[in-house]
Parts: sequence; C-alpha cells; structure tokens
Amino acid sequence: MSNESQQVVLKHEAGSGTPLTLRNVSVAYKTRKGDVQAVRDVSLDLRAGESIALIGESGSGKTTLGLSIVRLLVKSAQVTNGEIIYRRNGKEIDVLGLNKKELREFRWKECSMVFQSALNAFNPVIRIWDQMKDTAQSHGWKDKKAIRQRSLELLKFVQLDAERVIDAYPHELSGGMRQRVLIALSLLLDPQVLILDEPTTALDILTQRTIIDLLRKLKEEQHFTMIFISHDLAIAAELADRIATMYAGRVVEVGSADDIFYRPRHPYTLGLIRAVPKVVGDFQELFSIPGSPPDLIDMPSGCKFHPRCPYATDKCRQEEPDLVPVGPEHMAACWHWREVEKELQSKPLHSIS
Ligand code: SF4
Repeated sequence: MSNESQQVVLKHEAGSGTPLTLRNVSVAYKTRKGDVQAVRDVSLDLRAGESIALIGESGSGKTTLGLSIVRLLVKSAQVTNGEIIYRRNGKEIDVLGLNKKELREFRWKECSMVFQSALNAFNPVIRIWDQMKDTAQSHGWKDKKAIRQRSLELLKFVQLDAERVIDAYPHELSGGMRQRVLIALSLLLDPQVLILDEPTTALDILTQRTIIDLLRKLKEEQHFTMIFISHDLAIAAELADRIATMYAGRVVEVGSADDIFYRPRHPYTLGLIRAVPKVVGDFQELFSIPGSPPDLIDMPSGCKFHPRCPYATDKCRQEEPDLVPVGPEHMAACWHWREVEKELQSKPLHSIS
C-alpha cells in the first residue's frame, strides 16, 4: 500500500467542558458468597480532549468502572449508587437512566469501548465490512456507499491495507490487525469519548508499539477524550494527561501524570511505581508490593491497603481515609501522605517513561 493512501485526515470535534462526570459511583456483583464491592464511591471528571488512565492491579475495579460507563455490566452486576453524567453541545444525559433505544444511540455514537480481547469482540463468521455496515446501519446510516467510504478511511487511518482487510474475516487477521480494526470500528460514529481496556495486552512488543503510536495520534492530532484502563504504567506514562490509581474499588490517588509518577503521595501508587523495572543505571532487585489485593466480599477494616502498607498505623486499621488535596489538582486517600512526601524528598523516584 502506498504511503499516500494512508494519508487520511480524520475530522473530529474535541468538544468542550467536561463530557463525563462520575459522581459517587458504586458497583456490586451478586455472588452466592455475598456481594463483591467492585467499585466503591468513585467520583471523577473527564475533561474534553484529555486522556485519563486508570491504573491498579487486576481486580481493583478499573474494567468494571469502564463497563458501567457504557452500561455493559454483566447481569449479576449493578450500579448500586451514584450518577454518570454525559454532556455534549450543552445537553446533559443521565447515562444510568437511558432506556434500551437511547442506550444503543449512546454507545458507539457518544461513547465507545475498545475491549482487551479483539477476537472476542468480533463475530468470527461475519466479514469486517458487514460488521462495520451493521453497526452504522443500526444507528440510522442508510447510504451503503458512504458507510463503505468511511470504513475504508478509518481502516487506512489505523494503518491497515483497507481494501484487503474490509472484506476479510476476523480469523484471517493477526491480533494486532484485529485490535486496529476494533479501534477503527469504535471511531465509526465519531464518538466523543473512547474507553480503551488494556488495548495492548496480549500483543507482541512491536505490535504494542504500533497501537501506542496510533493511540497517541488519536490523542494529539484528533483530541479524543479517552479513558485508558491499564496495568502497564509505561503505557499510562506515555499516553495519559492524568492518572487515577484504583485499589479495592476506590480511586485512592488522582493527579497529573507528572504528579503521579514523580510525586506520588499514596503508598500503593508508590509501590506500583517502584515495581516497574529500571532500564537504566545499576542492576537493582525488583520491588514488589507484599501480599495480595483484598477479598472484595469481606474487606479489611479501615484503609483497605493497610495489611500491605509499610506506613500503616492503628488509625489506618480503624478508619478509611477520604481523598484530600495533596497538591494543586492532586488528591490522595491516605492518613500518612506527608510521610510518603518526606521519604521521596530524601529518595526521589526514577523515571519510568
Ligand atoms: Fe497506608 Fe494508612 Fe495510608 Fe492506608 S491510610 S495507605 S494503610 S498509610
């Protein structure tokens, strides 16, 4: 394919203000053993054109939070509290109050989610073109020629051989190609917000790089408003303007990427950063956070991180801290964040980006 054919200019309006607000959102899964408190009291504002990364170990609530925004939670899960407010052109939508038809409109057109397993997201016996056409037609597009044109443009934008890929079956494409097709599909109806759940997991390192470069293009050139869900801090460092650390279903720290990576104030964020291997300097033993994430049915008292935290005191074991300002636009939920600050003044962190 010639380079010329890849020069596709997407035109995306970044919007303005705060397209998405989560207010005190809690989500629980019903199980035979009891309710799993997967997301607890999360409040976040997503500003137009910004990218925010949700980081944390598996089971910290990141994916559940993403799924609740597009209302794709499994039947056993329920948003038990809170509000999800979406805004566009001065209109405000209560996402949790949408009926089936409104929800279909909302997904893809306003807010798209790219899942971590691209193969499962496609119907294996339907060609890419039919999947793209069906998605557009179910949102009211009638002109097949225009749909095909837009689909080809998007496939070129994600740097695929569009003419070949559009008529292929998903199983004929590699993992990285499928992931790019999925990104193209998610852009089909020009949504304002993109949610990407572990977009590079299970891809080889070179393909990961292609996807990261593509996402950077969407962010820097097209100014999409994005939420990245990732356990890979290096990707978060590369792509996110702001980072929110999640632990046991709660946001325990949120701030700019610089604040989080150079001035973390929550011991859990600090542990995650120290666990990233250094690629420069002398060999150092790899740090790992002791213990494992808590049982979300029967959580520890007080701060849920206390059994694993080197700073824990009796107060931590009794009372769960709220998020408090620890700097301009930087919040952390820790009783002893000043001690973390003091420690980092004497022992600064290495860069992970
Ligand atoms: Fe550690 Fe206490 Fe802070 Fe929780 S509140 S993170 S246990 S120091």
